[in-house]
Amino acid sequence: HEAVGRGVPSIAYSGMQDVMHTRDFTLMHELSAALREEGGLYLVYQPKLCLKTGLPVGLEALIRWRHPVLGELSPSAFIPLAEQTELLHTLTEWVIDRTLLRLARLRNSEIQLPVTVNVSPRDFAREGFAERLEKRVLQKNLSAALLGIECLETERIVESAAAMRGLEQLKQRGFGISLDDFGTGYSNISYLRRMPLDVIKLDRSLINELSTDVASRIIARSIISMLKELDYTVLAEGVENAETVEALTEYGCDQAQGYFYAKPMDDEKLDDWLRWKLRA
Ligand code: C2E
Ligand code: MG
Ligand code: MG
Ligand code: MG
Repeated sequence: HEAVGRGVPSIAYSGMQDVMHTRDFTLMHELSAALREEGGLYLVYQPKLCLKTGLPVGLEALIRWRHPVLGELSPSAFIPLAEQTELLHTLTEWVIDRTLLRLARLRNSEIQLPVTVNVSPRDFAREGFAERLEKRVLQKNLSAALLGIECLETERIVESAAAMRGLEQLKQRGFGISLDDFGTGYSNISYLRRMPLDVIKLDRSLINELSTDVASRIIARSIISMLKELDYTVLAEGVENAETVEALTEYGCDQAQGYFYAKPMDDEKLDDWLRWKLRA
């Protein structure tokens, strides 16, 4: 199975589904080629800001695919498919490699901002994932504290011994762990305490009605206060307006991310944005 990790992307079934549409199968072949030939895939980065200071505290890497025929594809068009195949691991490695290059470039401009990547439980359930990740980080003279993992699906993680072990090994090596999309079907509150989490990211569905709906405000306020009492760092996703920022600040939320501050940006735009935001 090691051949799958490097160089030879495979689209062998992981057995989660027995049929795949011809169209989807073609797309996965094209994704495999894109990963091999470095064609069309790229990362964009969205800043996370501290609500107290207004300063950037980190970045999230998000994948994009400029498909030769279909045009710009969002991750929802190909990640769920890739997750059904072994291609997922190649894709994750590609994302991590690119992110490490990004971190090295930030270091060269003397900017210290941790970057998170989105990783499926199937990735870190693999034997030796944390160890290999640490090796690659050290090879680039970076520290594990600069690379964070965003994970989904509390239930799937807690119920898999391999995924839990993988997560704990990441944590032990100093990688930051965030729980993504908290407040959706992916998160089960009774499992939260069993996972080694640093940051809880509140899903945009909890956030986007804050400015217009009283019930949403009550819910968000209670959730933030509960998570703060449990000692988590709390980040709100999908922040789109100043009223939402005001409410979140009042409720004690730590960090925010969303179009109000910045959309996910390609390399060049990110450099400009950081220069503007961090200008002395
Ligand atoms: P996510 O990790 O929860 O990422 C947040 C999504 O919300 C991103 O969509 C981002 O562009 C979008 N977003 C950010 N701020 C706002 C806002 O203010 N308003 C609205 N309406 N949307 C906002 P994107 O980039 O399409 O990614 C969708 C999902 O795909 C991600 O959700 C993540 O689960 C997955 N994904 C993205 N990149 C990767 C990757 O490299 N690997 C894996 N495994 N999954 C990825
Ligand atoms: Mg995420
Ligand atoms: Mg999210
Ligand atoms: Mg999401």
